[in-house]
Amino acid sequence: MSHLFYQTKSPRPVLHRAEGIYMYAEDGKRYIDGSSGAMVSNIGHSNPAVLDAMRAQMEKSTFGYRLHFQTEASEELAEKIVARAPEGLDKVFFVSGGSEAVESCLKLARQYVLTQGEGTRYKVISRYPSYHGCTLGALAITGMSTMTAPFDPMMARMPKIPAPRAYLDGLDADDPATGLHYANMLEQKILDEGPDTVMAFIVEPVGGASTGALVPPAGYMQRIREICDAYGVLLIHDEVMTGGGRTGTFFGAEHWRTAPDLICLSKGFGAGYAPLGAMIARGDMVEAVMEAGGFVHGFTYAGNPLACAAGSAVLDVIDKGGLVAHSARMGDKLAERLRGLMQRYPLIGDVRGKGLLTAFELMADRATKEPLPKSLNAHSRLVDIAYDNGLIIYSRRTRGGTSGDHFLVCPPMIVTEEQLDEMTDILDRSLAQFMA
Ligand code: PMP
Repeated sequence: MSHLFYQTKSPRPVLHRAEGIYMYAEDGKRYIDGSSGAMVSNIGHSNPAVLDAMRAQMEKSTFGYRLHFQTEASEELAEKIVARAPEGLDKVFFVSGGSEAVESCLKLARQYVLTQGEGTRYKVISRYPSYHGCTLGALAITGMSTMTAPFDPMMARMPKIPAPRAYLDGLDADDPATGLHYANMLEQKILDEGPDTVMAFIVEPVGGASTGALVPPAGYMQRIREICDAYGVLLIHDEVMTGGGRTGTFFGAEHWRTAPDLICLSKGFGAGYAPLGAMIARGDMVEAVMEAGGFVHGFTYAGNPLACAAGSAVLDVIDKGGLVAHSARMGDKLAERLRGLMQRYPLIGDVRGKGLLTAFELMADRATKEPLPKSLNAHSRLVDIAYDNGLIIYSRRTRGGTSGDHFLVCPPMIVTEEQLDEMTDILDRSLAQFMA
């Protein structure tokens, strides 16, 4: 009997080893990691360069408490991150995961507005659906009632606006009027709440788990930036899932050429080699907070040298392999293959995404976008069938009654076209079994 309790209803096999895009259970069965875990293992498993870098770091030191030592590993990684970040975002605070990165942004934002004599600002507007993490601060700005409901009385009430879902509202996502329509909901919310109470707005540049790789409509992200500027609201990009090249650009927001005030990174940044996340912040914000007495926040493992050495090596692997551009190319190829399946399976109502942040959605009726009945439990059934067939994909059903079941197909960014074919064949077989 296992003493562990995780969230799967049936026990999963014991992982024996993993290499590239493949994972092997103890009984020898091979699985294609078609979701990179939870969009984490961006450069594949057991990359020798990363393992070597980690071994080398282990020989030097495995821990140095951040208030006692700087480490070469964290300095080097910070430098590499800042070199890729938008201008002015030149301060990095390392953490051990996505929720910690989000919490750090909320705490820095609050301490910054205090230094500006704007202590009335504390509200963080977010979107529904959205997922920003499981700690109580990050959860308070998460728009997903299945995750938040038990904790409602324990959390701050934070305002939310709908995430744009043009395809459900019958709007043209390529028409800038659509982007304006949704972005202006932020302006209205700021006005309703009282601009002097609103501290920040948080958004994923391309939707992740909650919306299923939903790409914002034309003009949306740019208008969001304008609105934040007009009302003195800080803009936080949650790039926990999109950061590190997954969408075909290093930061997801590069697609929209907008820059935030704060960025949260994790997942593909440590790429499964080490628990690693980061807040990237505007230098002047950090300076103001430090001058006013320092950043009241911190995690014991922050800046862990082993994790930073892994992160640094991961970035080198991404660069040397041209994996960001490869992710863009393979994302197009994957979407092509999924659209091929869409022609044969009317159940697939939508295929979407950017780069290798790719998803499809099942619907009862493609024309009306009517979801499959909840009782069908499509999101977990199809995942289980694919799993039995040796393909791991990631699913959610987050829209409640008005929702559909969506599936993220996000293999490591090293995936080849032949491997995409292999994945598509398994998916094809799994869909046929699902329909039977
Ligand atoms: N933000 C986003 C966009 C995420 O996708 C996630 C994880 N799914 C988080 C934050 C939280 O990250 P973690 O699970 O590492 O705490």
